[in-house]
Amino acid sequence: MPKKVLLIDDDQFLLDMYAIKFNKAGYEVKVADSTSVALKLIRDGGNFDVVLSDIVMPGMDGLELVETIRKESLLPKGIIIMLTNQGSSDDIARAKKLNVDGYIVKATTIPSEVLTEVEKICSSKKM
Ligand SMILES: [Mg+2]
Repeated sequence: MPKKVLLIDDDQFLLDMYAIKFNKAGYEVKVADSTSVALKLIRDGGNFDVVLSDIVMPGMDGLELVETIRKESLLPKGIIIMLTNQGSSDDIARAKKLNVDGYIVKATTIPSEVLTEVEKICSSKKM
């Protein structure tokens, strides 16, 4: 069974690029260009194995989304990885507090490396 991945980013170009990468690698891919769309997909029973989310987005940001996921125990077995532009220490601290499984700085990571990094994180979690 393919792993179900949810990609969240307000940058449509990046979203498409990552979607192609993960699709080619055999994942079942869903995309959301905002946290509200993402939350709806998750609440509607999207039982995602992996959530890869940008942080800086209009409205609720990526970390607030994770906070909601945690509070409502929406994806108890899901692996949550933050994908962000700037590795601000404040964001990293917030991400740690929320117990995210990984943190990828996209400015220094090309899409194929993002895929590799995600697989590395997943295999370390033995999924
Ligand atoms: Mg963004």
